[in-house]
Formats: sequence, structure tokens, C-alpha cells
Amino acid sequence: MRYSRILLKLSGESLAGNGNQGISDSVLEEYAKQVLEVVEKGCEVAIVVGGGNIFRGLSGTKSGFDRLKGDQMGMLATVINSLAIESAITRLGAKAKVFTSIRMEPVGELYNRDRVLEAMKNKTVCILSGGTGNPFFTTDTAAALRSVEIGADVLLKGTRVDGVYTADPEKDPKARKFERISYEEVISKRLQVMDSTAFTMCRDNNMPMIVFDMNVPGNLKKIINGEAIGTLVSN
Ligand code: UDP
Repeated sequence: MRYSRILLKLSGESLAGNGNQGISDSVLEEYAKQVLEVVEKGCEVAIVVGGGNIFRGLSGTKSGFDRLKGDQMGMLATVINSLAIESAITRLGAKAKVFTSIRMEPVGELYNRDRVLEAMKNKTVCILSGGTGNPFFTTDTAAALRSVEIGADVLLKGTRVDGVYTADPEKDPKARKFERISYEEVISKRLQVMDSTAFTMCRDNNMPMIVFDMNVPGNLKKIINGEAIGTLVSN
């Protein structure tokens, strides 16, 4: 096994499947199966999920929302998605537990790094919800922060594109995929991998990241086994 402790970041939109909103049962089940495959191999898994399929604070400001309230709604949206993932994993017979960055028992336990490490050792998938708990941040930043805190071997960013490209592959047919790239190159080539706060957090703490397509069944297991899937971003 190439990686024995991972933090998997999923966007809220990916949970919606073909629609842009809501939660797709089939996507949930497929993701849960992939997670289970790696847990069974003995990999410790933490998950951070976004909330974009339900609400984003910034988009609310366009219709007059106070940014703070909007961001709190966005953070709560990540809790809803996290509960859905927890339930999909437990339905398949594995252990999963939601932690929240804002106190809200009994929905989930308040995030505590040591409790997460303990649960992961016990083969429990830990879903770290509520983002960082602060407005003006994103779940990419939460994923970067938590991956460093729990000492993950790698941050895995599941997206609908299969890696980092020279240009947007959905717009430019000549776009070429990088197998690996350094943080410095990402900056000098002005590539958009994640928001700058999240990116800096990973770079400054030497946290390698793999951007990959989570919608291809088996991809997560391949990465854990050390196969070159997606794009590896590292120092
Ligand atoms: N959010 C926040 N602080 C955080 C993480 C998230 O305020 O630490 C809010 C923010 O409004 C954001 C929303 O939650 O727009 C959903 O998160 P994100 O946009 O990262 O979700 P994704 O794009 O991954 O689905």
C-alpha cells in the first residue's frame, strides 16, 4: 500500500451526479463502495465534503445575503452531505462517524484531532464536516488544514476532471495533462488547482496532493496501491 492514511476531499457538486443540486443516491453508493475498498485494505480514511450542491455563501451575497449568514448556511450544507456519506458507508456495513467543526451534538461529535486519529485506527471512516468552522474559507482549505493536522500521507482531491491540465480541457482541445507537477510550477504557470489559501497551506506544510477523477470506479484503490492516477502535486 502506497498510502496508509488519506484525506479525501469531495466537492458538493460531485454528490449531485448529473444534476447540479441535491444528492444522488447512486453517486453516494458508488463513492461509499470505493471508500470501503480501501478501508478493507487497512487504509485510514478521513473525508471532507463541500456543500456547493446545496448552498455557497458567496452566491448568496448576489441576492442580498449577508456573507457571514451565507457562509454559515454553506457550512451547514457540508454537514448535510457528510451525514449522507456517513449513512451510505454504514449501509454497506462499515463504520463511519461525522465530526463537526461547530458544536452540534447529537448530529456529530465536535472535531478533535486525537479522537479522529483514534477512530481511524479503529477502521472508522471519519467525515470532517462544517468546513473550518469559519466564514470566508472553503472546504478545500478545510481539507488542506485537516490533512496536515491528522498527518495524512496525501490529500486526494476527487473532481470531475482527471487531473491538472495546461488549460481547461473542457474548453481547449489541445490541453495536456500533467502526471506530476510542483507547487512552484502551478504558481508560475498560473494553473488553478484549488483556492490560494488551501494551496498555500499544502505547499508550506509539504502536503502532497493528487487531483483525480472520483467518478471512475476503482480509482481510489488504484491510487492507494501506488498507480499513477490523476496528477500528483508536490514540492
Ligand atoms: N464554508 C465556509 N467556511 C469553511 C468551509 C465552507 O464558510 O471553512 C462555506 C462557504 O460559504 C462555501 C460553502 O460553505 O461556499 C460550501 O463549501 P465549498 O464552496 O467549499 O463547497 P464545494 O465547492 O467543495 O462543493
